[in-house]
Amino acid sequence: MSAAPEPVPVPVSGAGPAAPPPSLDVRGLAFAYPDGHQALYGIDLRIERGERVALLGPNGAGKTTLVLHLNGILTPGHGTVVVGGLPVAGRHLREIRRRVGIVFQDPDDQLFLPTVAEDVAFGPANFGVAGEALQARVHAALAAVGMAEHGDRSPLHLSGGQRRRVALATVLACEPEILVLDEPSSNLDPVARRELAEVLLGLDTTMLMVTHDLPYALQLCPRSVVLDDGVVVADGPTRELLSDPELLGRHRLELPYGFSLSP
Ligand code: ATP
Repeated sequence: MSAAPEPVPVPVSGAGPAAPPPSLDVRGLAFAYPDGHQALYGIDLRIERGERVALLGPNGAGKTTLVLHLNGILTPGHGTVVVGGLPVAGRHLREIRRRVGIVFQDPDDQLFLPTVAEDVAFGPANFGVAGEALQARVHAALAAVGMAEHGDRSPLHLSGGQRRRVALATVLACEPEILVLDEPSSNLDPVARRELAEVLLGLDTTMLMVTHDLPYALQLCPRSVVLDDGVVVADGPTRELLSDPELLGRHRLELPYGFSLSP
């Protein structure tokens, strides 16, 4: 016979540990470009720690404009952006840029040093990590993307898929609060696309993935947010949103020919 279970302590109301702040909390974000073009109208978006969220929407919807607010490249006309409890504001920008790791569509925007290891070390070194701790960061980040054996190589000699993974490692090495991926599957062959998906699925970092690749969103992100004309028009389980042909049609989203949503 098994022993009687230990009594489970019941937390006294108000005495438990405080819940961690969400990785991202965007409230009422509105923005117009200097030429007067209003690109965002009152965006609300909350992403909890560990969530993987796809940001979908047609060309010109405002996805890039939203992303550029997350690390303070653009400043809101109205509203607030808070990352892991820290407001995106002038005096916090250095720490915000560490917390918000943006992986750009073109890896060549992120790789510019003679070796892979130097590129991956660049970010954390800038944030004050040095010596063995820096080496450990570089090794861990390269291992996470399956590139641990390639540290001494020139990024110029890698394939497109490998460069994309190293670009991801440069951001992971800074231990971001939220990883923002801009069209991660673009220009990858099917195998590199799948390999990158496997890498991303193995990470426990909070993720916001901007993509036009709806099957990739389905594979990687349990939740999707659809942006159109500067407004969030849908926010819910990816499978549910992609199963709604009217929603897709209204916002110029289209599944690839022959793609079936059956599990
Ligand atoms: P895509 O899928 O094509 O990358 P997107 O959803 O990222 O599109 P944004 O680049 O955020 O869209 O653009 C949102 C709107 O803001 C568009 O109407 C665009 O023309 C406009 N826009 C973008 N950059 C500027 C700028 N520098 N000045 C004026 N308007 C701009």
